[in-house]
Amino acid sequence: MMSFSWRRRMKLLAGWAAALILLTGCAKLQDAAEIAGREAVEELSGKVSEMLGEEGAEEFAGEQDSAPGQSVGTEEEDVQERGVISGKMSASYTEAANRMEIHFLDVGQGDCILIKSGEHAILIDAGNNGDGEQICSYLREMQVSKLDYCIGTHPHADHIGAMDDVIRNFDIGTVILPDKVHTSQTYEDVLDAIEEKRLEITIASVGDTYDCGDMSFVILGPVGDYGDNLNDWSVGIRLTHGENAAVFTGDAEAGAEGDMCGTGLELEADLWKAGHHGSSTSNSPQMLNAVSPSYTVISCGEGNSYGHPHMETLEAFRERGIQVYRTDEQGTVIAYSDGEQFTFSCEPSTTWKAGTDGD
Ligand SMILES: [Zn+2]
Repeated sequence: MMSFSWRRRMKLLAGWAAALILLTGCAKLQDAAEIAGREAVEELSGKVSEMLGEEGAEEFAGEQDSAPGQSVGTEEEDVQERGVISGKMSASYTEAANRMEIHFLDVGQGDCILIKSGEHAILIDAGNNGDGEQICSYLREMQVSKLDYCIGTHPHADHIGAMDDVIRNFDIGTVILPDKVHTSQTYEDVLDAIEEKRLEITIASVGDTYDCGDMSFVILGPVGDYGDNLNDWSVGIRLTHGENAAVFTGDAEAGAEGDMCGTGLELEADLWKAGHHGSSTSNSPQMLNAVSPSYTVISCGEGNSYGHPHMETLEAFRERGIQVYRTDEQGTVIAYSDGEQFTFSCEPSTTWKAGTDGD
């Protein structure tokens, strides 16, 4: 009798248990399975610890993460991470995961352009001799500690003036200069700083390409031997970031611009650093047609003695519907690239006001 009632009780209990499982659904079971799985993993890692000791186990785990050729390699994770980022954007954005910023520093009558993307930075020119402190603190503010590339377009003092200070104060990757020496003290100072840091000069050679994180640039000039015309010796580059491009040609004048157009290299770009501070001796129709920019930034000093920017240049920009930004009116101008479009730190200038002094 007793045994019968026990069986009945067991059956009843089993029935209740089955009903409970049905009521609470599969979720509870999955939870249970997950907990069991975790426990198994913990138990396994515990055994590994026992076998190797704590340090050995950590090492073992590290090896598992970084072993090359395994499906869990970090490279694949990076790709997957990029995929997630680009998934929010359009497909072309995959080429430029990091935003790029082009800072046209207000250094008065001169050029100084900082280009930044992620951990990478490029400097084109470094203003005048007295601008060292301002440029160095700006770079520090922008959290630049290393310049992958430091480009001195040509040996004039309004371009390489404070380059010696920059070279002394930051880690420098590659210094790119044109193949033109100059006898000025300013130029000598730059050479001294290069020597002190035991750097080598890389001579700009047309067609050479440099990669820098998500950015890359091609050397456009100087194309030929320009004798004593230092402006025409200017290093020209076409910088790309995703689908965006920008062209910088220092102070190269119309003849040198024509030579760059004759190389067959791609010149088209959304952004044009106005040649030679907006001088009419540069920004030739041939160059503007080849670059065909939507935006231009003129780096010049308020009330400069050269009359930059010249009216002819402003008219040429206006005729072509090019939006103009000016450091003399707007201070430091920053262009932002998301790999598809440029946006700016300020509204374009609409004064169309030429420099007053000079010719
Ligand atoms: Zn200049």
